[in-house]
Amino acid sequence: KPTLRLILGDQLNAQHRWFTEVDAATIYVLMEVRQETDYVLHHAQKILAIFAAMRELARQLRQLGHSVHYIAIDEVASTRSIPENIEALIRHYDACAFEYQAPDEWRLDQQLYQAGRRSTIPWLMVDSEHFYTARHEAADIFAGRKQWLMEFFYRQMRSTHQVLMEDAKKPVGGQWNFDHDNRKPWRGTPAEPQDPRTVHDHSPLWQSIVAAGVKSFGAPHADRLAWALNRDEALQQLDAFIERALPHFGDFQDAMSSKAWRLFHSLLSFALNVKMLNPREVVARAQAAYHAGHAPLAAVEGFIRQILGWREYVRGVYWAHMPGYAEKNFFGHTRPLPSWFWDGKTKMHCLSQAITQSLEQAHAHHIQRLMVIGNFALLAGLDPARVHGWYLGIYIDAFEWVELPNTVGMSQFADGGLLATKPYVSSAAYIDRMGDYCKGCHYDKKARVGERACPFNALYWDFFHRNADTLERNPRIGMAYRQLEKMDAATIAAFRQQAATMLARLDSL
Ligand code: FAD
Ligand code: SF4
Repeated sequence: KPTLRLILGDQLNAQHRWFTEVDAATIYVLMEVRQETDYVLHHAQKILAIFAAMRELARQLRQLGHSVHYIAIDEVASTRSIPENIEALIRHYDACAFEYQAPDEWRLDQQLYQAGRRSTIPWLMVDSEHFYTARHEAADIFAGRKQWLMEFFYRQMRSTHQVLMEDAKKPVGGQWNFDHDNRKPWRGTPAEPQDPRTVHDHSPLWQSIVAAGVKSFGAPHADRLAWALNRDEALQQLDAFIERALPHFGDFQDAMSSKAWRLFHSLLSFALNVKMLNPREVVARAQAAYHAGHAPLAAVEGFIRQILGWREYVRGVYWAHMPGYAEKNFFGHTRPLPSWFWDGKTKMHCLSQAITQSLEQAHAHHIQRLMVIGNFALLAGLDPARVHGWYLGIYIDAFEWVELPNTVGMSQFADGGLLATKPYVSSAAYIDRMGDYCKGCHYDKKARVGERACPFNALYWDFFHRNADTLERNPRIGMAYRQLEKMDAATIAAFRQQAATMLARLDSL
């Protein structure tokens, strides 16, 4: 009797120990199912890229001699849930055991766990062999602490995994963090490296996704899908990043430009999150580039911090606070998303650039997500649960374990400051300093009130004013409150009036 082994759409790790031996009594199962296309409205490229990459892994496994049962989106079984399909396959093959890799989403983890309890054959969950840390490791590190400082966690990771360390104990270069060196705007030089990705035509697959009735948004670009769909392509992308972009990653990590959408970012988040790439190999390559003198320490440390630090840390936050984290709403914000979240049609140039790009590319870099879109959402008091739904749908790399803490915690401060030490908000000044969006914008970045005043300005002061009770005592935002104290009542009233007027017509901003 065979054993069935399930491979989820974000578990495309061809190097998993499961695949080291070909065993005729093992059947690998992959399924394109409506429960996964429909749990949130997804970007077209996200559905397409995940399915295309799943098909590619299935093809490779068959080529190696493994048995694969693949359920395609246009089969009847695609409308059943994952557990229903598993039960049907257990009956069909008269399987003696079922195995699956630990899911990264709470939703799937629960669903498979409950299904396993009902099953009459043994269910075994194995490690996905991807992350540095176990699900509960961050919670152990932070046991008893009120605030979870990423930097504390990151230093532990550096020591434990001996990354960028000297004599086992000291950080290379005598410093753990080079954040302060990494805040330069980009003025056109050095040139943005060429997009390193391979392009594929997946029009037939896209047609079957549409024909199956799957709803989506954003540009499918099915005839020129640019995301890595197998490990070889992901490795090529990693090579190109290390070679051309990593040396400048640090300097321009926080930069924004209407002329360069990816700047010096790696675009590796999709390949990492669907596990085509292992974070250890990405970190090792970056570290080797430093030791070979190819990239400066500030760039390499900045990049490694994102993967060894932030990525593992947010996963730990997720597992420690689920379920319930998705409902966090510290400020009690309830506004729906303005219509331009879905078409990019706003006169605010920074937002129209960041959102249009997200709709076109299914990607935006960190500062666009945090300091343009997220910044506005928080200042405008948008409902964090709806903001979460939007981020979870639109980005190619969005899986709840990583998207939710970034959106609800870091960007919307909806967890009340567990993850972020202060709300990430700014007026136009920051956006102007870090990019070129303000040039040519309909709004005046300097004006605070009036028809053409940049909405970020009044909303920024209104935000701090209305949340004084909860934020005033936070030492990291003392500056804002000291400035507010210096303002006279008439100035504050004018800001508040301006903010109220704009909030009443968000759709037309
Ligand atoms: P690079 O800038 O080249 O960084 C390298 C890698 O570091 C990334 O590929 C990613 O794996 C990791 N990384 C960087 N920042 C973070 C972070 N804050 N948290 C976790 N990993 C990080 N990242 C996702 O992978 N999925 C998401 O759904 C997601 N949602 C986000 C939502 C918001 C509101 C914010 C502010 C950030 C979000 N991020 C998310 C983090 C970050 O924006 C993306 O990882 C990054 O933009 C991916 O592009 P890149 O591969 O070019 O990254
Ligand atoms: Fe954005 Fe304001 Fe600058 Fe316009 S002026 S690009 S709205 S920050």
